[in-house]
Amino acid sequence: MPSALSYPMNMNRYNWGYETEPEEGLNNRRLSCPRGKVLGGSSSINGMIYVRGNAEDFNFWEESGAKGWGFADVLPYFKRQENFHEGDASWRGKNGPLHITRGTRENPLNDVLVSAAQEAGFLATEDYNGFQQEGFGPADRTIWKGSRWSAAKAYLKPSIQTKKLKILKNALVDKINFSDRKAIGVTFTQNGRSEKILARREVICSAGSINSPLILQRSGIGPSNLLKSHNIDVLLDNKNVGENLQDHLEVYFQVKCKKPITLYKYNNFFSKGIIGLNWLLFKKGIGASNHFETLGFLRSNNKVKYPDIQFHLLPIAINYDGSSAVNDHGFQLHTGPMRSKSRGWVKITSSNPKSNPKIKFNYMKHPDDWVEFRNCIKITRKILNQPSFKDFYGEEIQPGEQKISNDDLDNFIKEEAESAYHPCGTIKMGDKNDPSSVVDPNCKVIGIENLRVVDSSIFPRITNGNTNAPSIMVGEKASDIILEKMPLPRENLEPFKHT
Ligand SMILES: Cc1cc2nc3c(=O)[nH]c(=O)nc-3n(C[C@H](O)[C@H](O)[C@H](O)COP(=O)(O)OP(=O)(O)OC[C@H]3O[C@@H](n4cnc5c(N)ncnc54)[C@H](O)[C@@H]3O)c2cc1C
Repeated sequence: MPSALSYPMNMNRYNWGYETEPEEGLNNRRLSCPRGKVLGGSSSINGMIYVRGNAEDFNFWEESGAKGWGFADVLPYFKRQENFHEGDASWRGKNGPLHITRGTRENPLNDVLVSAAQEAGFLATEDYNGFQQEGFGPADRTIWKGSRWSAAKAYLKPSIQTKKLKILKNALVDKINFSDRKAIGVTFTQNGRSEKILARREVICSAGSINSPLILQRSGIGPSNLLKSHNIDVLLDNKNVGENLQDHLEVYFQVKCKKPITLYKYNNFFSKGIIGLNWLLFKKGIGASNHFETLGFLRSNNKVKYPDIQFHLLPIAINYDGSSAVNDHGFQLHTGPMRSKSRGWVKITSSNPKSNPKIKFNYMKHPDDWVEFRNCIKITRKILNQPSFKDFYGEEIQPGEQKISNDDLDNFIKEEAESAYHPCGTIKMGDKNDPSSVVDPNCKVIGIENLRVVDSSIFPRITNGNTNAPSIMVGEKASDIILEKMPLPRENLEPFKHT
């Protein structure tokens, strides 16, 4: 049930349940780093928001060495994956396996936010996944017929019927096996037994941005000193395996709502029961929404080429993971910078696949992070103080109106900023002669034969928005590369550029 999104992300059954090392930039807090441990991966436990990213993200990928991954190259793959149920067909896909719908946007706060943003001098957009990302407008979600539409439902289920795919459930991959530097299969454990499986053609590692580098490291591909310290034979010394870790950090800017129109009215046992029943019987009603129905992408200043701040509206004051609801009518804007210059890492702590890794994002390490984050908070206040919010915006719950100085804001960020759960970049794709690349633009591990990585770990840089859509696009595009098909023709549609 989409509105119950906080449950699977908090269940050990579906979540690898990682946490970071103490993050110095955040008062040494350890942040939660959930990852989906279930068919469909994190798309089966995520918030279902669907954002392709900005055209310039992919142009940057190409310029930084990922040849063939520019916007014109990836656009046809985004279209191929989508079955978008509203909007302009020239920019969107209508026949793909991934259903994308919008919410009813019945709550007045949705339209109020778009108007207030315009009053504050920002833009509105009809479709941030189409011609114009910049602006505030309706959110796309991977929800179909009232239910979560995960990558498992979109891709795995139909593939099982073709009988070309065999899924081994509850199988934990330990490592990849090699003959010299050629991948020949994997070792995994299932039902307590260690098994080996041989690959007829090649091995494709798609364990996500935390687990893929761990599998490579356990297999002898990674920084030699790290591998040796865990008695792992070094097959390929590459210090970049597990580096370049990036994420989006955000704060929940919470305010009281003057009118009793927020989801708080349903935050009681009785209402939840009725909502659950309506959803179980008809897949309709409040339960059928993830409640992120309006998003915004804006530029913090005129020197910025394309949006660098994202907003999510949630018409209740509550944490993303469902904890600490405020006992009153309220709403919140999740806001955070999109292109932090801080970089972190992921490292194995032993050769045992069951041992948890060390993960460090180095959140807020780059001095620009502080300027960018303060901007997010200041711009949020600017938007909330526009006439459209007059009848709705009560007092600020957090950060709190009295928190104005840079020190106040910095302390708030240190204490309250949370991950948006978008880790990526740990097996960077780039030119094969660039020493910082781990895979080449064909997703092949450089220096190794018959091994590819295909998931969010190969992003050269994080995209401008939530990362599920570009992760799936990586899979779509890589599938043609693996099958040695001609890539889909480049599409030279000109996206919006601010003047
Ligand atoms: C709680 C949460 C909320 C999020 N919200 C959103 C959102 O609203 N919108 C959005 O766009 N993005 C969101 N994201 C991010 C998005 O879901 C991910 O970026 C995306 O799913 C990453 O895809 P991936 O293929 O790289 O990895 P994953 O989806 O994580 O897939 C990796 C798969 O490999 C499996 N695996 C890993 N290690 C092993 C092993 N050793 N043996 C066997 N199998 C293994 C995992 O179990 C998993 O099934 C969220 C993520 C989380 C965790």
